[in-house]
Amino acid sequence: MRAHTNAGAWLDVDLAAIVHNWRLLKQQAQGRADCAAVVKADAYGLGATQVAPALHAAGCRRFFVAHLDEGMALRPLLPADATLFVMHGLLPGSELEAVTHDLVPVLNSLAQVRAWTTLARGLGRRLPAALQMDTGMARLGMPADEFNRLAADLHQLDGVDLQLVMSHLVSAEQAEAPTNAQQLQRFAAARARLPAAPASLANSSGVWLGAAYHHDLLRPGAALYGVAPMAGRPNPMRPVVRLRSKVLQLRHIAAGTGVGYGHAWTAQRPTLIATLATGYADGWLRSLSNRGAVRFNGQVLPLVGKVSMDTITVDATDLPPDALQEGSLLDLLDERLTVDEVAAAAGTIGYEVLTSLGNRYARRYLGAEACTHSL
Ligand SMILES: *Cc1c(COP(=O)(O)O)cnc(C)c1O
Repeated sequence: MRAHTNAGAWLDVDLAAIVHNWRLLKQQAQGRADCAAVVKADAYGLGATQVAPALHAAGCRRFFVAHLDEGMALRPLLPADATLFVMHGLLPGSELEAVTHDLVPVLNSLAQVRAWTTLARGLGRRLPAALQMDTGMARLGMPADEFNRLAADLHQLDGVDLQLVMSHLVSAEQAEAPTNAQQLQRFAAARARLPAAPASLANSSGVWLGAAYHHDLLRPGAALYGVAPMAGRPNPMRPVVRLRSKVLQLRHIAAGTGVGYGHAWTAQRPTLIATLATGYADGWLRSLSNRGAVRFNGQVLPLVGKVSMDTITVDATDLPPDALQEGSLLDLLDERLTVDEVAAAAGTIGYEVLTSLGNRYARRYLGAEACTHSL
């Protein structure tokens, strides 16, 4: 392990916790459905090259990325028994590359179905694909009119080895949202008009909507990485990340002293300010200005003033005297200060906090030994 003695901040990613979360999600289906792993956007910023092999070692065999390039980067790191789905589908001209790299496109339109079957005919063999229906998201997936045209003549799927029929939920984190049942019903109606194939609807939150949403394959991303899957309910997932940042400088300031850009915060009392080596360039969102917090030995210290590009300032006055020195490590994310809490303070969602985490951190992967029994 490289010694990152000069790093300003440490990001620990607990692979054993990710594996634990994957197993917990899989258990919800009680064996009726398999559990895939969504590892797009570099496994939500945590490192797909570490996360995907750890999950494969734990038994996960199906993985989802967004871009073809993400799939191409990951494919050599996974054994041949792993299937890698590319959710962005087929961009015109990329069809052959998908075949060459053993990637399975999620076909999102009739044009993509045609491109895939044309290539299959040219190669003289069936090509694996997933088919995504739009059941209400209006983002990716085959719209209803195109689907009707497809269903009217299923020979259009000749040459496709249909490995999965899928759709994506609009508001799964809100159990009472009417779109859930509506999408479930539309998904069933669409499947009934297609050749029999395994089906997948549930993302992380969908897993917790109950067995009706499980079908053959769960498709969680965020919950694997510790994000709470259900709005307003306790988080059943294990925390995955710990982020600690070093104190660069300590200063005592008098009451009335302004701190940082625009003097967005002014001390109301004699104050100890600690400046930490993490800023918005590291994904510590600027909307946390005057709102975020960090912890030291469990004690919460408020973030004061604006978040800068490379630093934040915190009010450390209430710590015992001399508790901090230059170089002391403070917690920005830990088991009590979760991505969801930071997201709430920043006015965003845990997904964005995770995927924003920058590349200046010294990253450590913990627990890899515990979850690789087949390397
Ligand atoms: C990102 C994504 C997922 C995973 O969603 P989470 O909410 O992170 O579990 C599943 N399916 C599709 C189509 C996605 O885009």
